[in-house]
Amino acid sequence: MSEQLENLNRLPLRDDLRGLTPYGAPQLDVPILLNVNENTHGLPEHVRRAIVAEVESAVGGLNRYPDREFTQLREKLARYLGHGLVPENIWAGNGSNEVLQQILQAFGGPGRTAMSFPPTYSMYPLLASGTGTAYVTGTREADFSLTPESAAAQIRAQAPNIIILCTPNNPTGTALGLDVIEAAYEAGEASNAIVVVDEAYAEFSHADTPSALQLLPGRERLIISRTMSKAFALAGARIGYLAAAPQIADALRLVRLPYHLSAITQATANAALTHADALLSNVEDIKGQRDRIVRELTDLGLDPAPSDANFVLFGGMENPRAVWEGLLEAGVLVRDIGIEGHLRVTAGTEAETDTFLTVLRSLLPA
Ligand code: PMP
Repeated sequence: MSEQLENLNRLPLRDDLRGLTPYGAPQLDVPILLNVNENTHGLPEHVRRAIVAEVESAVGGLNRYPDREFTQLREKLARYLGHGLVPENIWAGNGSNEVLQQILQAFGGPGRTAMSFPPTYSMYPLLASGTGTAYVTGTREADFSLTPESAAAQIRAQAPNIIILCTPNNPTGTALGLDVIEAAYEAGEASNAIVVVDEAYAEFSHADTPSALQLLPGRERLIISRTMSKAFALAGARIGYLAAAPQIADALRLVRLPYHLSAITQATANAALTHADALLSNVEDIKGQRDRIVRELTDLGLDPAPSDANFVLFGGMENPRAVWEGLLEAGVLVRDIGIEGHLRVTAGTEAETDTFLTVLRSLLPA
């Protein structure tokens, strides 16, 4: 046992946290970072300046606590999402991870169960254990899809308190049909389950893949979670949010820390949303690179999963570890997400994609 682990084990840590590994992709100093699904395009210069100006004016009021209700931000997010949403439908946190944690704090906890369908976002089980919520898993088809019938039957069998459906799904890129979400919601009625649809990557979806936002009217147990970390290229600012019935926000007010969204965070998000069109202008380019990766990997005889996100999961390599290492040696970091035989690559700029594909080609048997 390592000294670090021995030191940790001496502490009176909660039993259910013993032996867990913290979340964390390697943060290596590599020229081309395609491992954590960030938006690799920088922020346009005029948007940077607008953010700096709004932050500067917020700095003048830093002696006071920020607006606890982040009123302006909720107005702007409601307007951005459309679908007839109003500020009362919106809640936000420091990244959608925090929003998801608050959902588990409010609706999960000891004696309660959260359910999702792996392979999916690896934070869900960690958020469950951190909040004392039991975590159960369902299964997908071999191609990572999920049918309405299968989702409903598995949910009825488990009767969870919280169902988390990630679409487009990390790490597979798979989008779920609205019929799957409707079926999951109906199947969750028996256990009065909260249904969270994690749409962190929604903006990258193909045009014919609809958002679950349109399912919100009349469904008070449904929550759509979003983030500004991906399409908005603001991962460093830590801004996530959700849309749901107003009583969901009321529930989260019971568990949020006082003034959890700093004045700096609110100013950054407000300025960014004023310039949403400019920030989102790279999304089409990223989608093009994503589709190109799927096409070219297929041509190389590999096995990429269809993706509605800004990344591609691919298999078909004889030695994925050697491919991962070969890419790293050439300065390209991709992600081994623990699915045997597979790697995941983020769609970056055209130049980054060029390099990734060229190096990859050189690593495969001729
Ligand atoms: N959901 C999914 C599916 C994700 O992949 C991520 C980020 N990797 C998040 C939520 C959390 O993102 P953030 O906290 O930056 O909003």
